[in-house]
Amino acid sequence: MIQAILFDLDDTLYPEADFCRGGFAAVAEELERRGAGPAAAAQELLESIHFREGRENVLDKASARLGFSAGWVPELVGTFRRHEPDLTLPEETAAALDDLHRRYRLGIVTDGHADVQRRKLAALGLAERVDAIMIADDLGREHWKPHPLPLRVCCRGLGVRPTEAVLVGDYPPRDMAAAARAGMASVRIRTPGGYFSKRDKAGWPRADFDIRKLAELEGVLRRIPKQKVA
Ligand SMILES: [Mg+2]
Repeated sequence: MIQAILFDLDDTLYPEADFCRGGFAAVAEELERRGAGPAAAAQELLESIHFREGRENVLDKASARLGFSAGWVPELVGTFRRHEPDLTLPEETAAALDDLHRRYRLGIVTDGHADVQRRKLAALGLAERVDAIMIADDLGREHWKPHPLPLRVCCRGLGVRPTEAVLVGDYPPRDMAAAARAGMASVRIRTPGGYFSKRDKAGWPRADFDIRKLAELEGVLRRIPKQKVA
């Protein structure tokens, strides 16, 4: 029987776009300070590249189009990462976590730079709503998902075996792959507007179930194949 639920953080418990917009605003202000033109125009360009073209090499592309030195990019990446996130936990997430917490142990397993993830978790007030938080980066960069170790450590913290837990996440190459390696079932959340919600590639590992919102989660937990569950 499933006794614990492990959640990914970004685009699973809150819209990561909110974090990105805040980071781009900080970068755009820095660009204006350095004389690269008005912040509003830079922010619009950064968001347009990220959300329409893809999130790879956003600052390099912006440097070519706005005409600022590519040598600034590493510092601007730092500006993006260090900005103080202004995030709100969606009401739907808060309600779902509180409801699920009556019947399940809850954990969070997140990738990303530890200090950045800590700021997000603090801004969202998530520590009070779950029983265990595992920032994979604290185990070393090589242990980010899809490495199964952070999932196993989180399960240990919750006092359950991996076969008694399920991972909920939005990005199959990291989340579903890590769950499979840890011997856990997984549920993919495709929140409308989420970066990966409509992206799919051949060869991505499959989740046991797909959902569109956390309110659908409990309904599918009972249907997880018996051979996966202790
Ligand atoms: Mg995610």
